Amino acid sequence: MSSVLDPKIALVTGASSGIGRATALALSKAGATVAVGGRRTDRLEALAQEAPGEILVLDMDVSDPESVRKAVDRTVERFGTLDIVVNNAGVMLTGPVLDADLAEWTRMVETNLLGSLYTVHAALPHLLRSRGAVVQISSTSGRISSAGAAVYSATKFGVTAFAEALRQEVTEQGVRVVLVEPGFVSTELADHIADPNHRAAVKAMAESMRTLQPEDIAAAVVYAVTQPDHVAVNEILVRPTDQS
Ligand code: NDP
Repeated sequence: MSSVLDPKIALVTGASSGIGRATALALSKAGATVAVGGRRTDRLEALAQEAPGEILVLDMDVSDPESVRKAVDRTVERFGTLDIVVNNAGVMLTGPVLDADLAEWTRMVETNLLGSLYTVHAALPHLLRSRGAVVQISSTSGRISSAGAAVYSATKFGVTAFAEALRQEVTEQGVRVVLVEPGFVSTELADHIADPNHRAAVKAMAESMRTLQPEDIAAAVVYAVTQPDHVAVNEILVRPTDQS
């Protein structure tokens, strides 16, 4: 346990599993007080028991702008400020474009792209006051589009585009915008792919390599947000060594 982030206040979306959970724990271990958002609040309560520092559990659906605003407001009401936002919540419902389920496309856009925009919109006035940081969890799919991942990639390219424009708007006011682009990480992400063949193919690809662990990405986030104020880590691409 370190105190490098004490007394910072962080909000992590999608903290009930995978990268978000590991990031919330890592920020807590680094001394931050962390608000954790997601829909499976039982998992968030369990995380709160495990974390060394104070945790605020937020029932938060990032695809609902009102839910996002309430989560940000509750965090600031409770702790008085907001220093770090990690926009992590996401779903990957990949598969071919032909005959795709449009409801899955809507869900990916609402969660991965709009959810992250709503969170920035609600949090930005507070981050400007605290001269804080926004960490956008994008993906290698936000840099390279590939067959089977058209809409997932479109959401992540969107996250990347938004992050750069936001950076230009707020960097001179002291707010740092960090884009983190993970390669394959061992999490629940692929479990939600509906098409069994496509799900099996994604899992087989992951099993063919030593994937990253959620803690590897959490470490990148902690690195970015613990640099001195004059250092803006704008982009971190982290792939498994085995991923070509
Ligand atoms: P997980 O499925 O383990 O975690 C996804 C998290 O997002 C869960 O905590 C889930 O919480 C949350 N979430 C999903 N929908 C919503 C919603 N509507 N509102 C609030 N929270 C939501 O996957 P990962 O940890 O892998 O994914 C985290 C991020 O990392 C995603 O943005 C993903 O695209 C990105 N990423 C992952 C990679 C990988 O290989 N795993 C590679 C590159 C990027 P709950 O269901 O409780 O709401």
